[in-house]
Formats: sequence, C-alpha cells, structure tokens
Amino acid sequence: MRIDTVVSKADYYEVLGVSRDASDQELKSAYRKQAMKYHPDRNPGDHTAEEKFKEASEAYQVLSDAEKRAAYDRYGHAGVSGAGGPGGFSGFSGSVDLGDIFGDLFGEMFNMGGGQQRQSRQRRGDDLRYDLSIDFEDAIFGTEKEVRIRRHEACTSCKGSGSASGRGPSTCPQCQGRGQIRYQQGFFSVARTCSACGGAGVIVTDPCPSCRGETRVTKEFKLNVKVPPGVEEGTRIRYAGEGDAGRSGGPSGDLYIVLSVRPHDFFERNGNDLHCVIPISFPQAALGAEIEVDGIDGKVALKIPEGTQSGKELRVRGRGVPHLNDKGRGDLVVQVIVQIPRKLTRAQRDLVSQLAESMAIDNKPTAPSLLDKMKDLFS
Ligand SMILES: [Zn+2]
Ligand SMILES: [Zn+2]
Repeated sequence: MRIDTVVSKADYYEVLGVSRDASDQELKSAYRKQAMKYHPDRNPGDHTAEEKFKEASEAYQVLSDAEKRAAYDRYGHAGVSGAGGPGGFSGFSGSVDLGDIFGDLFGEMFNMGGGQQRQSRQRRGDDLRYDLSIDFEDAIFGTEKEVRIRRHEACTSCKGSGSASGRGPSTCPQCQGRGQIRYQQGFFSVARTCSACGGAGVIVTDPCPSCRGETRVTKEFKLNVKVPPGVEEGTRIRYAGEGDAGRSGGPSGDLYIVLSVRPHDFFERNGNDLHCVIPISFPQAALGAEIEVDGIDGKVALKIPEGTQSGKELRVRGRGVPHLNDKGRGDLVVQVIVQIPRKLTRAQRDLVSQLAESMAIDNKPTAPSLLDKMKDLFS
C-alpha cells in the first residue's frame, strides 16, 4: 500500500497568516478569508483545498479558545492534542466541529447542514482517522507499526449492488422514486422523507444476505504503517482511497494515520533540534573541558570552552532530528548548568577558600532586566 503524503502539522498562526499576538477579531477575519478560499463547496474535488480548509478550521478552533490557545502557545501541538489517546479510531472530521464554527461565523453563506440534501444512492465513503502513538526515538528515526483498522468495504457477494440477484435496486414503490411523500395537513401540503427507501427513491427488493442490502460490510484489515524519519506530534500520513468504501460502488474515502509522540526521558524537541540540559562542574566551566554526552544515537563529544557561563547553550551540528521528506539533520543543543556543590570535603574547602581570596569580585547590584545583556558580555 502506497503512502500518499506525509504532512507535519503546520504552525496554527502560520496557517491563518496572523502574528502570534493577533486579536480575536484578527483571527476571525483571517479564518474567514481562508475558509472562503478553500471551502470544499467552492473547490469540488480539489484535495489540497480540502486539506487547507481542514487545517485552517482546526487552527481557528484552537486559537479562538483562550484556554487552548494558551496551551498551544506554551507546548505547541503537544499541548492541544491527545484527543484520541494511545491509539484510537474515529471519523476524521470529528476533530473539528465545522457545524459549530460555521453556525457562528457564516452559516448563511454556505447553507451548511440546513435544508434538504438531495440524496443520491452512490456516495463517497468516509475519511477515517487512526491515532497512532509512537516512541520518541521512532519519530526521529522512523519505524514500522502494524495496525488493525475496521472499515466499510464493498460487499463481495453482491458486488456492491446490495441485491441477492445482482439486479440492483429498483424504483421505490411507495414514493415512485421521488424520495418524499407529500401529504395534506390542514391547508398545507407537507413533504416528508419516504420511510421505505430513506429518501433514496430506490429500494432493494431482494437484499443480499451478506450485507443485508447495505452494499458494504464491516471488515478489519491489517496495515503496516511506515513511519518515515523526522515525523513529529500531529504528523498525518495519508493513504488515499483506504478509508471507508463508498455506498453502492461510490469512491472510497481516505485513511489518515495521525501520529502522537511519547515524551523522552531527557530530550525535548524544538522543530528538528533536540534539546537537553547537562550539569558541569565549576572547574570544567572555568578551565574548559572535553566531555562525552549521550546523544539520541550514541555518544557525542562536546567541547566546553574555557570560561563557559551557566545556562550557555552549546550546539552540535547534525546530531538532531532528520528532516522529514528531505536530506540533512537538525542540531543537538546542550544547555550546560554549572553545578555548585552543596557539600565540600575538608580538602576542597581549603582549595575553594584559597580561590576565593584570589577571585574577589565586586558584588555590585544590576537591574534584573539587564541580566540578559550581561550574560551576553560573559559568553
Ligand atoms: Zn421511497
Ligand atoms: Zn451484499
């Protein structure tokens, strides 16, 4: 099975094209613009537009909620995901309630949900979403996971016709194919959906025993998901045409594997860079040192320059996360913290006392806001 696209989750602010301090009003109008442009009704059959529409809707849903926005600002996508838990399964649109947003914003424009939808028997199957939780290292170096997915598949006994004879559906005798029954109520003529055919206008008179005329059956299938290196929280892997089969031979929906990444004991990710903190001693900081630290893929030699200040970030090029769908790797960023011993032996105490005499400094106050500038001077 071929993977169609692998997309890492875009920054919500970038999706809407607003600054990080955008007001609610700015968010709303930015979203409105995107939604107008990419709405499926205006771009029938255009999958990229549909993706962009979903993306914008999701971004707006998070950023328009003060609590979710705060969590997103702080922790990124990891702060607002987790709806699916450690491997769940749901209809894809479930993550974004479009009805809510649209009812609020511009229900009048697109007439969503309202009014009678014309029913045709052939319909595209639903997109499916499967939440897959993977280890931190697997997100970096890639992995393969077998998942079991339940979906609707076209019934093979009746070849999707729904009828035992293979003749297919015939015109509904109750509504004569109109899908509606009209009846008189007082002065008014009222229409209601035909109960015999559910509004389809056609009916299967000899239902197939395997699918009971539904044209589809529920089946579980195994999928070997190939997770490429460099994925992150929220990355979506799309398998085109692997969602639910359509009704009565309609086209299949797509399957999305949505990744969530379990945290690491000491590495944290920022884009393609890996961050960690290591303690160093005062002599190592003052004299400089060459040490070995644990990288994500083995030991990394780290040179601590003479006179390194506590909190200094040292960057090791190319030892971070491989770029998704591209060559190259991010960096390993090690923040060193100079550890001050809480207890000293007698001998150490004597040595430090000697040092104190030769290193007396002027304990002059500085405004806290100037501290960062001072750090720059020292580093
Ligand atoms: Zn009918
Ligand atoms: Zn069947």
